[in-house]
Amino acid sequence: MSTIDEPASDRTAPPGTAISLRGLSKHFGDVRAVDEVDLDIADGEFFSMLGPSGSGKTTVLRLIAGFEQATAGTIELAGEDVTSRAPFDRDVNTVFQDYALFPHMSVLDNVAYGLRVRGVKKAERRRQAAEALGTVQLAHLGDRRPGQLSGGQRQRVALARSIVVRPKVLLLDEPLGALDLKLREQMQVELKQLQRDLGITFVFVTHDQEEALTLSDRVAVFSEGKIVHLGSPQEIYEQPTSEYVASFVGTSNIFDSATSQRLLGRPGTHALRPEKIAIGPEASTGSTDASTGVISAPGVITESIYLGSGHRLHVLLDDGTRLVVLEQSTGAQAQKEQRGEKVVASWSLDDLVPLPEPTP
Ligand code: ADP
Ligand code: MG
Repeated sequence: MSTIDEPASDRTAPPGTAISLRGLSKHFGDVRAVDEVDLDIADGEFFSMLGPSGSGKTTVLRLIAGFEQATAGTIELAGEDVTSRAPFDRDVNTVFQDYALFPHMSVLDNVAYGLRVRGVKKAERRRQAAEALGTVQLAHLGDRRPGQLSGGQRQRVALARSIVVRPKVLLLDEPLGALDLKLREQMQVELKQLQRDLGITFVFVTHDQEEALTLSDRVAVFSEGKIVHLGSPQEIYEQPTSEYVASFVGTSNIFDSATSQRLLGRPGTHALRPEKIAIGPEASTGSTDASTGVISAPGVITESIYLGSGHRLHVLLDDGTRLVVLEQSTGAQAQKEQRGEKVVASWSLDDLVPLPEPTP
């Protein structure tokens, strides 16, 4: 499903929609930070916005939260138009990349802060804050100051502070960006569990494609303030709608029209994932055979990079086409391909993804 060929501008949001954006734009002078975005995010969905730095992700979040005023368009939360409402008058909460904790307050008081602002009595807010800290496994650190915590712990405090007020929608702006890889992967699992347990709608911003693919129900890929692909992680990965998406989300081999004609015997631009290509010894040469649906092409390995879980090979085909190939280690795999080795690359026609012609 895609919103780019069927604009949602005219449609009203279906029931069960948590967030509905229509024709949403934000300009800063000449910069179109957000450019006519149409989007419906469902209740309880884990929704990610993925895109390179500067593509407008943060601005969309800030518009939803009410920290920015839209240049044009509307924002609905649970069916109510909140476009001109103040941030405190919207049932959303934001976890910022830098966590924005109060350094002079204890962890427990940081978490209880949102309840205090809402006028919840002291005993009750301490109870709820302790419970939220328990949810992120920090019940034992309530008395500490944020400065006495590790990065991962601060991240959890920021989460606890946001969920304690039970918002319908949680906006998360690259919340794992400051963590090292190991902790990041651990927090990804915990975030997903938390979201499932609480049933809150998560809108998650990241520039990390793997993070978006593993966590999300759906992903919107952003480029220059626009959504260029909207779909499930599998759709985004397996059926990218453009060369931009195919290249930004993971690595892709892109065959332009001339290469497609030469190598595949068909016109048009095509993408092929590196893990869909098999590498065999030179002797296995079977030339392209349309009846089997398998393409085989001879070439030479120009680079072999050890990845732990496998190898990334660069292959120069005899016709001049360069391929990136991902080989998983299977254990049984006896021979290792080396630089300079002559090989045959083969792949199934079914694994080719046709792409629209790039607009000049
Ligand atoms: P992302 O979060 O995807 O990195 P942003 O939403 O932060 O992107 O920014 C989108 C574009 O808007 C960028 O070109 C950025 O420089 C510009 N921008 C964002 N905020 C402001 C601002 N307050 N003033 C001027 N330009 C801004
Ligand atoms: Mg940003």
